[in-house]
Amino acid sequence: MSIVTRFAPSPTGYVHIGSLRTVLYNYLYTKQNDGKFMLRIEDTDQTRLVEGSVENLMQVLASVGLIPDEGPNNPGDKGPYFQSERLDIYQEYIKKLLDDDKAYYCFCSSKRLTQLREEQQSLGLPTKYDKKCRFCSPEETQEKLDAKQPYTIRLKVPENTEISFVDAVKGKITIPSKDVDEQVLMKTDGFPTYHFAVVVDDHLMGVTDIIRWDEWVPSTPKHVLLYQAFDWQMPTFSHVPPLLWAGWKKLSKRTGDVSVESFLQKWFLPEAILNYISLLGWNPKTTEEIFSLSELIERFKLSDVHKAWAIFEEERMEWFNAHYIKSYETATLWNKIKTYLGRYDSEYLEEIKDAPEDYILKILDELKTRMKKLEDFKPLTQFFFHDVADLDSDLIVNPKMKVASLAEAKKSLQVTLDILENRENKLETPEEIKNTFIEEIKNREMKNGQVLWPTRVALSMEQFSPWALELIFIFGREKSIERIQKVLKQI
Ligand code: GLU
Repeated sequence: MSIVTRFAPSPTGYVHIGSLRTVLYNYLYTKQNDGKFMLRIEDTDQTRLVEGSVENLMQVLASVGLIPDEGPNNPGDKGPYFQSERLDIYQEYIKKLLDDDKAYYCFCSSKRLTQLREEQQSLGLPTKYDKKCRFCSPEETQEKLDAKQPYTIRLKVPENTEISFVDAVKGKITIPSKDVDEQVLMKTDGFPTYHFAVVVDDHLMGVTDIIRWDEWVPSTPKHVLLYQAFDWQMPTFSHVPPLLWAGWKKLSKRTGDVSVESFLQKWFLPEAILNYISLLGWNPKTTEEIFSLSELIERFKLSDVHKAWAIFEEERMEWFNAHYIKSYETATLWNKIKTYLGRYDSEYLEEIKDAPEDYILKILDELKTRMKKLEDFKPLTQFFFHDVADLDSDLIVNPKMKVASLAEAKKSLQVTLDILENRENKLETPEEIKNTFIEEIKNREMKNGQVLWPTRVALSMEQFSPWALELIFIFGREKSIERIQKVLKQI
């Protein structure tokens, strides 16, 4: 039987980084088994819907390159893919459960249910429905239906038995049926609950493997009971471990900073995000850490997903990001930066659009080893495209570099100017620049830092930037002279 998996999000906001890991594991498992990965939107809880979530989800999946094989954007024969468009289907199947005496009408008011819950809580008991309507006579039920009393439909949980399932990650899980609540399957408004819709849809869509977050483990016995009530073949369940934020706070669905979108906006590369999160919960059983998506498809093993939680650390993800940034050809990296700028900072792209490409590539060549995120590009490069800020005396004077006063800084800048203006060689390659400056500084019996610190500051007026000789190489002779003269005038 070929493998069918699915991602079944509720459109209640942005895509959580933990959900992306679930998508990734589904995707990897499906691709390595030549299966089909489906997307279904679980939008039956109309009160929790957030407008734009579905579009955002599609955009995020496209940005990271994890495209479902079948779903709202690329329908096959298993649609519709929005649960809100499948209400007739749920009606058909709930009727079947009622006819087979596997479910029953419940007429209890929400007031009664609240009271019941409060009583149970005050006695320290688990909160559960007390099965009052399960034992109504058929006549009484019919009377209430005829009187058009509002109702829900609940599952009949078999009594005095055990419910078991084998989880591919966590092993065999068994719980006594008395601990399972007689859950609502169909709400008063005719919408199914998650538990009912998920089972009906997974079955009708032919899902063979359910890979989802750990928090659904307590719900799974309810799902198992439904598969049994319908006499349907059960899929394999794999519950992947929870993610914790560094600092031991559970990755909350409500904290915006764990959204994939926010990481993309901070300009993490998709390949770095996927590589990093693949390792949060999966053990490749080697010390290797860098895996491309196709390597992950080859290497990932669901059986090597561990039970213990994993910790998400943004700084670790930065390390992966820096690795990918460094390993790109400069021209490829520039193309990526252009795409990101176009999406997230078109203003800056506009500002730099007239700069010659080889100038930008020179800058990037120098900077790519310093960038952790693509968003570092703007703060690191602004001074290359704009005039430097006004003289910052505190920055240019640096006693540690033997530049104890503005007068000394001036003297050093004059040395640089002299070399740039009067040396006959071309000063075009980094080696030529380096050898010339070192030789000239030595001839003048000065220290390298003494000349190069003020030079670096004059060229960038930044606390941090590439070193002076690298800047001279990038700017070229003429522009370097211009910048140094400007600062000299201000001293
Ligand atoms: N709609 C559920 C959610 O939002 C899906 C859970 C499942 O995968 O069964 O997470």
